[in-house]
Amino acid sequence: MEGKKRVYKFGGKTADGNSTMKNLLGGKGANLAEMGLIGIPVPAGFTITTEVCTEYNLYGKDAVVQTIKEQVEEAVKATELTMGAKFNPTDGSFPLLLSVRSGARASMPGMMNTVLNLGMNDETVKIIAEKSGNAKFAYDSYRRFIHMYGDVVMGVEAEEGHHNPFEVILDELKAAKGYKIDTELTVEDLKTLVEGYKAVIREHAGVDFPTNPWDQLWGSVCAVFDSWNTERAILYRRMENIPSEWGTAVNVQAMVYGNMGDSSATGVCFSRDAATGEDQFNGEYLINAQGEDVVSGVRTPLEITTIGSKRWAERNGTSEGDRVKNFPSLEEVMPSLYQELNVTQQKLEDHYKDMQDMEFTIQEGKLWMLQTRNGKRTGAAMVKMAVDMLEQGLIDEKTAILRQEPNKLDELLHPVFDQDALVSAKEISKGLPASPGAATGQVVFSADAAEKWAADGKKVILVRRETSPEDLKGMYAAEGILTERGGMTSHAAVVARGMGKCCISSAAGLVVSKTSMTVGGVVYKEGDFISLNGTTGIVYEGKVDTMTATLDGDFAKLMELAEKNTRMYVRTNADTPDDAKAAREFGAKGIGLCRTEHMFFEGDRIWAIREMILAEDLAGRKNALAKLLPIQREDFYGILEAMDGFGVTIRLLDPPLHEFTPNDAASQVEMAERLGVDVELVKAKVESLHEFNPMLGHRGCRLGNTYPEITEMQARAIIEAACDLKAKGFNPKPEIMVPLIGTMQEFKMQEDIIREVAAAVFAEKGLEVDYLVGTMIEIPRACLTADKIAEHAEFFSFGTNDLTQMGFGYSRDDAGKFLPIYIEKGILKHDPFQVLDQEGIGQLVEMACEKGKAARPSLKIGICGEHGGEPSSVEFCHRVGMEYVSCSPFRVPIARLAAAQAAIRE
Ligand code: ADP
Ligand code: MG
Ligand code: MG
Repeated sequence: MEGKKRVYKFGGKTADGNSTMKNLLGGKGANLAEMGLIGIPVPAGFTITTEVCTEYNLYGKDAVVQTIKEQVEEAVKATELTMGAKFNPTDGSFPLLLSVRSGARASMPGMMNTVLNLGMNDETVKIIAEKSGNAKFAYDSYRRFIHMYGDVVMGVEAEEGHHNPFEVILDELKAAKGYKIDTELTVEDLKTLVEGYKAVIREHAGVDFPTNPWDQLWGSVCAVFDSWNTERAILYRRMENIPSEWGTAVNVQAMVYGNMGDSSATGVCFSRDAATGEDQFNGEYLINAQGEDVVSGVRTPLEITTIGSKRWAERNGTSEGDRVKNFPSLEEVMPSLYQELNVTQQKLEDHYKDMQDMEFTIQEGKLWMLQTRNGKRTGAAMVKMAVDMLEQGLIDEKTAILRQEPNKLDELLHPVFDQDALVSAKEISKGLPASPGAATGQVVFSADAAEKWAADGKKVILVRRETSPEDLKGMYAAEGILTERGGMTSHAAVVARGMGKCCISSAAGLVVSKTSMTVGGVVYKEGDFISLNGTTGIVYEGKVDTMTATLDGDFAKLMELAEKNTRMYVRTNADTPDDAKAAREFGAKGIGLCRTEHMFFEGDRIWAIREMILAEDLAGRKNALAKLLPIQREDFYGILEAMDGFGVTIRLLDPPLHEFTPNDAASQVEMAERLGVDVELVKAKVESLHEFNPMLGHRGCRLGNTYPEITEMQARAIIEAACDLKAKGFNPKPEIMVPLIGTMQEFKMQEDIIREVAAAVFAEKGLEVDYLVGTMIEIPRACLTADKIAEHAEFFSFGTNDLTQMGFGYSRDDAGKFLPIYIEKGILKHDPFQVLDQEGIGQLVEMACEKGKAARPSLKIGICGEHGGEPSSVEFCHRVGMEYVSCSPFRVPIARLAAAQAAIRE
């Protein structure tokens, strides 16, 4: 642990680091350095690297403090020099106060703790009071520091069912004096609080609050490292797929004060609208406040721009006179500082070429930037910003595509409220449209309840006064979030946008308690239904119907760009003409998997299948199958017609036959009556179909090879439908797929049947259609012998669900018992049924592709497992040279984008 540079300084227009060093300095540290380098005023300070966090976890506190002590002391000296103040002064000079901030590689908003005003004690507070001439500010900062330090570093927090002990003292004092807001506190009150807070620490932590600033500093640095492993940080990382090895950096920085009176302020702003993507600078501020006041949502902040302020007033029903008097914009209150801020945000966006999320503080008329980062955004904003920035010449096409998080497009494909249903819906409140989208569900008032209800399969709306990082689990579980307080930059708003959840904050007239919410004189209890429109900020009573989204505007433009930059195309898994049409609208070019058995469950068809199953001999089976032929032909006709001109892969019957027979006595009696046989015969048949391991049993091509008449019927239905379409001028392209092949012979036998039937149909109809015969690759042995199979098969379609099941030996139907635990314990990184296991199963896929292509260069290869719509798996499919991926209709745009990204990254 010797010698290495572990501390990077910034401030005074220079910096040791820069924005490319996020891995080492964390996002916040790297950007603080970069802002310094491009001449934007940041309070001086230094960053302790993420490597030190890893060392901390390995070697413990004492060893790490020893290693970095010298470098930290030197960096504190440099900070003193730049800021003209002294840390722990003994000569009466102005005290340097510090903030200690966490900052990982990926932003984790509010996940880890910040300590502000560090360096305060009974001595320094006096000097600050005297030299600043603002005793109220000095003692207010002091009591905030003790509170934060007690909370973050010393672990003094509310016990189960109690209020936070610091807040109890504050509330009591305010109640006794009849104050409404904190700023009414006098210097004497603040001094009383300081003593009260110290006593709280003594009582709860068993030790005194540390008065030596160096002790405070080391305590805080270690607390930031410790916070990397808190439950909420771990949960957030798991949800966002952030590896725990990354660690957090610690940023130590000179404090600047937004709470030094009316020429001071603090705020959060965005260079574009994070909810809609509109190219409009926006944000919120508070006069005479510290940054935490904005973020926590305790005081509702005001709009920075006049445009934003006017829009707010309109939504809120506030008159222009009232707005100007009581809710003015920063632009109106501090015009020249607003100008400076506006120029700075523009400069930062131009520099980073992406939407910036910034924190700033104005101290007695001077602007300081505290943070900048690429802002989190909704799916809609992500799309609009990329298209706008492309048109503005800020970024190029490839960057516009790479900027998309494919999974986030999901939000745009989600249902929106049905406009007709909205007309009659009862509006109960209106708040800030903090995160767009539509949500309907039952109200719950705690994160725990949200989790519990969601686990029971219910849709819930989490309703809180305001949210904090402790609510995270509940927010994930909820469909939407509604809060009584907080602005557009409150915790609830920022986190909800990141999650793509609909959120309304500061809902007018809403009062939330632990067990209910009241609005407009009506009390809503846990379990009552409400609906949220996060795009307009309107809250409705009861359920409101939703409808499906469409692909248009910027979204369509982006898809065109994806189309231009891709090699693979995307098909869809669809069993009905309607699904096929929906997928085509989303850009699907063909069907990768049409499951014929799904068609058998519709209406009366099941009876023909059951008749076939019960039949004693070949003649009986053929008789029953003859009834199914016209029905299947009609199905295939519809699907081939909907996908006219594109390939349609139709899989022959796959599931074991017992899936079509009833297990309960009553249904067996019904079956016997309906088919005119003895119920004992039905029972005996059901019993004979029983298998110990149906997944590995009599299914797939094993059915077609033992009952060739089933394959004959299905092949005939497909080819007849195709011929009928062709006769009408359509261009059908059927691809007949044999499932569950393990050996070449299994395939060959099926292929011979299909080709013979096709030839017969062509002769009968007097016309021919092009068709392919290929196979699903889903058994490991098929991968190993893919060269032999490809001598006969014209295409491969990877059925990665079964391939994963058989490759891992995990039963898909039973894996729910252990997979979640495996993931929690880190045995597996992802559920392999959702994210293709590239390391293991991927090898099988790759080998099969290579062997298959070697035997038949024209072999057409695609994937039809669930993985076909999962971005990292799509990238893998591109890499191994597949021609297409296939996924469910609503994931088609996601897969198209992921395919384009794969081609660009190549
Ligand atoms: P997070 O990562 O949760 O956003 P930050 O490190 O940004 O946490 O700190 C939280 C808040 O503390 C910020 O919003 C900012 O207003 C305030 N803060 C942090 N550092 C300073 C500083 N040097 N001077 C004044 N306020 C600060
Ligand atoms: Mg911050
Ligand atoms: Mg299968």
